[in-house]
Amino acid sequence: MATVVNARSLWESVLGDLQVRVNRPSYETWLKDTHGVRQGNGELVVGTPNSFVCSMLENRMYSMIAEAVERVFGEPLDIIFKIISHENAVDNIQAQKHTSSHSNKIVGKNESLDYNVSNGGVIQKYTFDNFVLGKPNELAYAASQAVATNPGNAYNPLFIYAKVGMGKTHLLHAIGNALISSGKNIHYTTTEEFTNEYIDAIRNGKTESFRNRYRHVDTLLLDDIQFLVGKEQTQEGFFHTFNTLHLSGRQLVISSDRPPKELTLLEDRIHSRLQGGLTVDIQPPDYETRLLILKEKASKTNFVFTEDILKFLSERIYKNIRELEGTLNRLMAYSQLLNEKISVDLAARVISDTSGKRFNAKATDQKILYTVSTYFNIDEAQIIGKKRDGQTARIRQICMYLMREEAELSYSHIGTVLGGRDHTTVAHAWKKIQHLLNEDDNLRRDLINISQDLQS
Ligand code: ADP
Ligand code: MG
Repeated sequence: MATVVNARSLWESVLGDLQVRVNRPSYETWLKDTHGVRQGNGELVVGTPNSFVCSMLENRMYSMIAEAVERVFGEPLDIIFKIISHENAVDNIQAQKHTSSHSNKIVGKNESLDYNVSNGGVIQKYTFDNFVLGKPNELAYAASQAVATNPGNAYNPLFIYAKVGMGKTHLLHAIGNALISSGKNIHYTTTEEFTNEYIDAIRNGKTESFRNRYRHVDTLLLDDIQFLVGKEQTQEGFFHTFNTLHLSGRQLVISSDRPPKELTLLEDRIHSRLQGGLTVDIQPPDYETRLLILKEKASKTNFVFTEDILKFLSERIYKNIRELEGTLNRLMAYSQLLNEKISVDLAARVISDTSGKRFNAKATDQKILYTVSTYFNIDEAQIIGKKRDGQTARIRQICMYLMREEAELSYSHIGTVLGGRDHTTVAHAWKKIQHLLNEDDNLRRDLINISQDLQS
């Protein structure tokens, strides 16, 4: 469970960390007058004195701050900047203290603290409009829209699963926002928050009022249900909530990092409930989708990104969309702090700094192909082609391995470059070479030589 600490002292430590990393004018201008407001549920709300500072921190210094938060707090938090005067924040901290055991909860309605969270915990910035559509997410998107148009009838429950950073939370909020505008009563909660509330209710003998809390909700959006795994007590509370809502025709939308059948340690009766509706997944974004997302995000900034740079990033950041966004933000921060134009070179530095890998910006797919073909004295066409004799196949595998290691290209990209091969073939080749490197001295020497050639 995420630790809850005093937001003010957490932020003070973060400022301490940042103070030694940014130059003094930047610190004085942007950071000095900020303060921690609230921390909980994986978020840290930071108060800023005005919109100028707010947008600077959000758009240009976000990744640097996020890294400092992670260093200090020990795990990543979503940081939300809000224009809040210091007085209000202090009042609020007092109020939080007085509500004793509720210190980790979202503070009750307070104009100055309402950080674009409208009714029922729904975040306004996540909408259908700014959700970029691609093959990997079109099904989840369509199902979400169907539910938003016809809640309680279309698919109930709607179960969305995907690995982290794929857009589950975004879709849940998008459903919420659409339904709020048609006047529905929505409640968004993370399963972690749900669990905390339930345990509090049990502790204080208030399970009855816990159940009543959801009675007037038209649609419940429950994020990250995998958090229920192994928590028998909370499963009980969830089961009742689920039944109450479901039986009266209310909509439930549930997200998870894995499909229902892999939620082991969930009671059978919950399993069968979850499987009673529609289950959709979101697959990792393909290259086209990644590029579209980057274009969308980049267009919302004041920075100029050439197509080259966005393509460069889309080719190399492929695991999830959060990472993609994070890299874009980091690139802007670098450009700002180093006073350097955004370029492919700068992007390469950002990626290598983050991944901790020696990253060779010059090692493009074409250069690797050329270097390998020259080194082994074999035609590029033969490497790309269909020949499957042992030697050609091995050289092809080396090529794949280097494209991954030196250029950090995705398996599917490498497959496409090397004659339209499947990404699983490339993954297999990478594993094979990685394994052989432990026992084959010649192979190791070849790879070192080629890597050196690539540097030149
Ligand atoms: P998850 O809940 O699956 O871990 P999130 O919904 O938090 O992922 O998404 C991570 C980030 O990526 C968010 O900032 C979100 O807005 C963005 N994102 C994810 N999918 C898309 C998409 N299809 N279009 C635009 N932004 C997206
Ligand atoms: Mg999420």
